[in-house]
Amino acid sequence: MRMREIDLLVEAEFLYPVSEGNPIVHGGEVAIAGDRILHAGPAMPAGTWRPARRLGGRGRAVLPGFVNCHSHAASIVFRSQTDDRAAKSALFDVAFRMEKDIADEEWALLAEVGCADMLRAGITTINDIWYAPWHLAAAVERCGLRAQIAHKVFDVRLEELHRGDWTHLAARGEARLRDGVDFVARWHGAAGGRIGGRIGTHATDTCAPGLLRDARAEATRLGVGMHVHAAQSAGEVERILAAHGCGPLEHLRDTGMLADDVVVAHLTLATDADLDAVRETGARYAHCPTIYPRRGRYPRLDAILSRGIPTGFATDWMQNDPFEGMRNAMNAMRLLRADPAALECAEAIRLHTMGAARVMGLDAEIGSLEPGKKADLVVVDIDRPHLQPYYGAHAALAFYARAGDVEASVVDGRVVLEGGRPVLLDEARALAALAPRIPAWRGRLEALGSRAVFGPGCACCG
Ligand SMILES: [Zn+2]
Repeated sequence: MRMREIDLLVEAEFLYPVSEGNPIVHGGEVAIAGDRILHAGPAMPAGTWRPARRLGGRGRAVLPGFVNCHSHAASIVFRSQTDDRAAKSALFDVAFRMEKDIADEEWALLAEVGCADMLRAGITTINDIWYAPWHLAAAVERCGLRAQIAHKVFDVRLEELHRGDWTHLAARGEARLRDGVDFVARWHGAAGGRIGGRIGTHATDTCAPGLLRDARAEATRLGVGMHVHAAQSAGEVERILAAHGCGPLEHLRDTGMLADDVVVAHLTLATDADLDAVRETGARYAHCPTIYPRRGRYPRLDAILSRGIPTGFATDWMQNDPFEGMRNAMNAMRLLRADPAALECAEAIRLHTMGAARVMGLDAEIGSLEPGKKADLVVVDIDRPHLQPYYGAHAALAFYARAGDVEASVVDGRVVLEGGRPVLLDEARALAALAPRIPAWRGRLEALGSRAVFGPGCACCG
């Protein structure tokens, strides 16, 4: 038999392909030619492949790269600043007032460090909505991630929301939408198709109905999907009810915005009628398990899944560990239902891979390790004390592994993380560039009354 020349052979003591039936293969491998998977399953007989390069091996688990279907890579600037009062005023008092003071080039530095963090955690695909998306797109193009990216479109002054001023400024909304459209025109399909664009309407109460309709029309004209936060806070639900007499998702449906190319994040306070609106329109759901417990309220994931709404896991902002996310989801669901079988490990892994890929409309290309799909995968070092003895169950990964166990990642057949470090991104340079900015950000946070910064008297910052 002639050996087949391939570009990359990834060997796995345990392979989790997340294909139909969610099997686990003891002694598996993934053979890759170009950006595609040729074979994923039990190791073929010696001599089948002549690989140009090998990864993995004994003591390594291999699974599809994690898909993060709702993220804000550059939001790390607010780490530790909105966590204790997250559900009340820190978001409005601190984050929303400071966002406008951060310069484009600062978002660029933050986006690059955010990308490094995602890569190190085993995330290979993100769906991001934030400021200065062109800088994130440039960082994604360099570092090898796969991404769909949207500019953050809204027509209120976010910095005035803490005063209760929700005035919609049409010109502001139109300008931001124009920038979002220009971004899509420039970046959709870039980096060999690794980068896609979306139109990102920020939330149901920060965009007037006319802006939502205009944004929908532009997304349809451009042939791209949309991304929105909805039913996230009690204030939002009250405002939509008062203005339109319905829930936030009913409102989005009634404006004609919802469709199967829309990713809706949160649904934390969605009513049955809201969830029915999501189901009827085919819209898809990004569930962010790490942020909800912090805010004291967990979405009704059972009611969402039982409606058949396509659902995937995501990190939202500031924390980007998919293993932590899976654990938070399982723990939350088991507590809420008082049932230790409420969300099982195999399903949690599926929701952060195939589930999230489907939410982004990418399930035909990524999310599982199957012949013909794009070669996006992660290699986890299971030769570690906290993972011993590694028997190979889904729980071994979902309840015991950590982001820091991810040793290597492949996106589009290209190795983008090796030895736990990004290959194509100069992480040391990115961190060094961030450091001089931190004192000014700290000062601004203090001025805004954040209780979470170091007070005066700190030896290093006075
Ligand atoms: Zn978000």
